[in-house]
Amino acid sequence: METKSYDLYIGGEWVKTDSYIPVYHKYTGECIAQIAKAEQHHVSDAVEKASKTFKQDSLTPFQRYKILLKASELMEARRDEMELSLIREVGKTRKDAMNELDRTINTLRLSAEEAKKIHGEMIPLQATEGSENRLGFTIRVPKGVIGAITPFNYPLLLSTHKIAPAIAAGNTLVVKPATVTPIATFLLLEVLEEAGLPKGYINIVTGAGSQVGEWLLDEERIAMYTFTGSGEVGRHIKERSGMRPVALELGNNSPNIVHLDADLGLAARQTAARSFHNAGQACIAVQRIYVHESVFQEFSELYIAEVKQLKVGNPEDPDTDVGPMISEKEAIRTEEWVNEAISEGATALLPVKREGALFYPAVLVDTKPEMKVVCREVFAPVVTIIPYNDLDDAFAQANNSEYGLQAGIFTRDLNIAMKAARVLEYGGVVINDVSTYRNDVMPYGGVKNSGLGKEGPRYAVEEMTEERMVVINL
Ligand code: NAD
Repeated sequence: METKSYDLYIGGEWVKTDSYIPVYHKYTGECIAQIAKAEQHHVSDAVEKASKTFKQDSLTPFQRYKILLKASELMEARRDEMELSLIREVGKTRKDAMNELDRTINTLRLSAEEAKKIHGEMIPLQATEGSENRLGFTIRVPKGVIGAITPFNYPLLLSTHKIAPAIAAGNTLVVKPATVTPIATFLLLEVLEEAGLPKGYINIVTGAGSQVGEWLLDEERIAMYTFTGSGEVGRHIKERSGMRPVALELGNNSPNIVHLDADLGLAARQTAARSFHNAGQACIAVQRIYVHESVFQEFSELYIAEVKQLKVGNPEDPDTDVGPMISEKEAIRTEEWVNEAISEGATALLPVKREGALFYPAVLVDTKPEMKVVCREVFAPVVTIIPYNDLDDAFAQANNSEYGLQAGIFTRDLNIAMKAARVLEYGGVVINDVSTYRNDVMPYGGVKNSGLGKEGPRYAVEEMTEERMVVINL
């Protein structure tokens, strides 16, 4: 397999460094690429180039629209190659990689549209006595240099959710992708520049978060940080960014409620499919399923029958449903959490099995709220099914979490559905589908420790622009 080398990308130039970090195929363990390890002066240079480009910004909103739209078309034309790259660098199954590609292309298109919609509003100053001859309106101006830091699990889609709205809004960026899955961001760069994005708009620095990420946080010239990743790093970024705005998309532990009146077949199919995609490494993956006790047995049997159909193994095989986790270390951590729960009284409905980085779908019952698999973000193919007899108690258990990104409920009762929408303390509530449903046009973001701010191109553009008041003395 060809081993490609990715240098840093600063001011439109490829910059070599003294050392390089290998990137592995997450299933075979082969080295598939290497990325440059940036030093602090590289980060500083990248910010300098992004700043300079921002000051000379020459792109009109229509040009930004055309570039982003063209990039979506170029990505569509290269989708086979991009899917294969995701399969190899993330260990994503072909189905998951196709889904990530579809969503990325749509996110580029949505961002293109947003470039044409940036506008302010008239402010009725004349309605105030003494201001009769004042004309007031707002305009939205780009913030400047955006520092974007992305996680390993959806490397193409999540860098697009930051880069495309930033470009639509007229900003420039310094991007630091996850060290274990950096290639996708370079592929995105390629299509954007081929689509006409001038050099200097996107600068990419690679290396460990604890170094390169920290150096980015040292940079006062960065106007805003947009981060997706763990709560721990997100909190740290918020502390380090002072008065500057941050957008944080952090961890989660999604609850899904299956009420006694639910379509159990639908609930079992959807929860089973979306508990284990991306090997459970999705921030809105189904983790806790609360099922009314009167249908608990029936649901569990339907659910297990669905899970048994899932094929675990080589992600390059088109039939595979569950591929490897990001590393063997993560799979071992998952195995430990599951075994700890079992030693404390939980029951596994399927054999607990790990082969290297492959962790087979684990379904637990008889869990307790304080077990790690229930109360922490598991970020692995592990689900617990928990019975309830009172719906308010199910809502309370669903809310008993430090996180609040998205939740799901299956019910045929409109009043219950609307009550769930009101009382579940989550950024999004999905009715008659799983917490995992995300359409990239949606405002997407969590409450509590799941983050700050919303993504989705329209909302990200809003966060990446400043509302400026203009007053004219007529
Ligand atoms: P992570 O926090 O370990 O890393 C994310 C990024 O931060 C990486 O690029 C990493 O190099 C960088 N980083 C690490 N330390 C840093 C530091 N001190 N300063 C600056 N940057 C630093 O997260 P991960 O393991 O890549 O991703 C998994 C996490 O991401 C999970 O918690 C998951 O829930 C979360 N996530 C959230 C969403 C969402 O939309 N809410 C989406 C995907 C993933």
